[in-house]
Amino acid sequence: MKKLLLLLILSFFSIQSFAAGCPDGSEPVKSISADGTYFVFECGGSSNKIDFQIINLTDFEDSYFTDKADYASSKMINTITKNLVLIYPLGDFLSVTQNDEMDFLGSVHVSHERIIDDSQIKQTLQTVKKFLANKSCIDARGKNDLLNNIEWVLKNGFYSGLQAPLCRDVRFVMMSVSPEQRKDNNKELLRVFFHEIYHSLQNDLRNNCSGPNDLWVIEAAAEYFAKHSVSIFDNSQQDYVQSIFHWAVQNASRHGFKLEDPGVAEKGLGALRLKIEEGWLDESRILNGSLFHNCARVKEFQDNDPKIQYLKDNWFKIEKHNGTYRFNTSMTEADVKINF
Ligand SMILES: [Zn+2]
Repeated sequence: MKKLLLLLILSFFSIQSFAAGCPDGSEPVKSISADGTYFVFECGGSSNKIDFQIINLTDFEDSYFTDKADYASSKMINTITKNLVLIYPLGDFLSVTQNDEMDFLGSVHVSHERIIDDSQIKQTLQTVKKFLANKSCIDARGKNDLLNNIEWVLKNGFYSGLQAPLCRDVRFVMMSVSPEQRKDNNKELLRVFFHEIYHSLQNDLRNNCSGPNDLWVIEAAAEYFAKHSVSIFDNSQQDYVQSIFHWAVQNASRHGFKLEDPGVAEKGLGALRLKIEEGWLDESRILNGSLFHNCARVKEFQDNDPKIQYLKDNWFKIEKHNGTYRFNTSMTEADVKINF
């Protein structure tokens, strides 16, 4: 017992001294030990971390985002990507512009009061340029286009939440933080962050494999990971499956039963969850990203597979029983519409 106490004290002191800073002057990253009983502090490079560079223009501490990016990458296996993540704040909502101007990866023209200044934008573009400098898989024109697009989004105070697979192993994430996203205990901010970070860790996005179910599988897996991760940081892990059911059935009743936009990520959650509950997909393959290795998502989601057809016909048949959502595949489409 004495020995244990001594060990605890020693580890307390070592954590204290280690937490003061890393040899390179950076802040150590805090994580929870494998058995969940103590915190582990690690300096960059000392652990098997993925290459994330985060440009954080918000008031949040850098560690708020780096902790979560490290958490996400620690869950994934065999990741290959180098990632640049740009997070910037927005002021109050101004307007939605309907025009055919240059668009950036589906950036919606939802403008807000701009609260970052010209020098921050200039500095950001320099950092992006530096990140791109040694990425030979992108040509000069591609790099220029990207820089112009980033400048355009930042200068206009546009909303964004996107991941661009610039190359097979080079990814760019850009997301805005609106005043609304700071509400709700930052839950929505975290959800978007984990969703986009997961995309940046999906290996297969630039491979030559493609299939008719790509959109919903890719989007729903990112959303599945996001819901799971938010529940962990929100200390309500038991609720993420209920959250998945909730969003799936809400979007089914609002937007229909086809696995397509609008709401494709949320609808797809229902289909992925049904595949798991039928025993046809191990949940860990979503959470560790291996569903996006070696074109598995195409091979395992073929339209001529009766199981995939079953998912498409039944993913939305969700009922609330004693306050808890569950699948009930004996429901009809009309039942789903009436219930929600
Ligand atoms: Zn997405």
